[in-house]
Amino acid sequence: MKEVLIATKNVGKAKEFQTLFERYGIKAVSLLDLEQELPDIEETGSTFEENAALKSEGIAEILNIPVMADDSGLVVDALDGRPGIFSARYAGEPKDDKKNIEKVLSELGSVPEEQRTARFVCVISVSVPGQKTIFKKGLCEGTIGTEEVGNHGFGYDPIFIPDGLQQTMAELSPDEKNKISHRSNAIIQLEDWIQKLV
Ligand code: IMP
Repeated sequence: MKEVLIATKNVGKAKEFQTLFERYGIKAVSLLDLEQELPDIEETGSTFEENAALKSEGIAEILNIPVMADDSGLVVDALDGRPGIFSARYAGEPKDDKKNIEKVLSELGSVPEEQRTARFVCVISVSVPGQKTIFKKGLCEGTIGTEEVGNHGFGYDPIFIPDGLQQTMAELSPDEKNKISHRSNAIIQLEDWIQKLV
């Protein structure tokens, strides 16, 4: 089975990538599966693209193999696009999903439902040593609820209601999330590259 290395130590992301790549008969391996301890790459970029490239190019350079990375986050219109690229640590260090959610809900306060529009964004970068990094972007549109509901998924899933549904992302099964997620939509854009790999 072909393997692809995903430059992430995020358990939730790693699991989703594993399932999404299984569809193509590819095994997605993450940094959590490697015996070699690799340095944490600082996400100092100012866009999802820059941060994804820092991760995939950084790890590809160390290991000298093709590496894929994703930089993702939640973009809330009424918060001028925040938390955006700061999604993982929006409420500060150490990374805490519950505190991040509380911060978003408190900043939104009583903003009415029709103004609580938001989207999950996922930018995947693929870095092959000696070649230019390629980027693909996937979105998932929705609204932010007023309380946490559901316990599947990770991150902001308990407050994100995808368009066309009455449930939060965290109430969906992993299979249901994988059909509509920003990560799945970004991978669909990568299909040409994936076909070449298999
Ligand atoms: P990154 O590791 O810098 O890409 O940070 C991604 C952060 O965005 C995560 O830690 C979550 O807070 C949020 N995020 C990304 N994808 C999802 C998702 O599928 N569901 C919920 N939150 C997500």
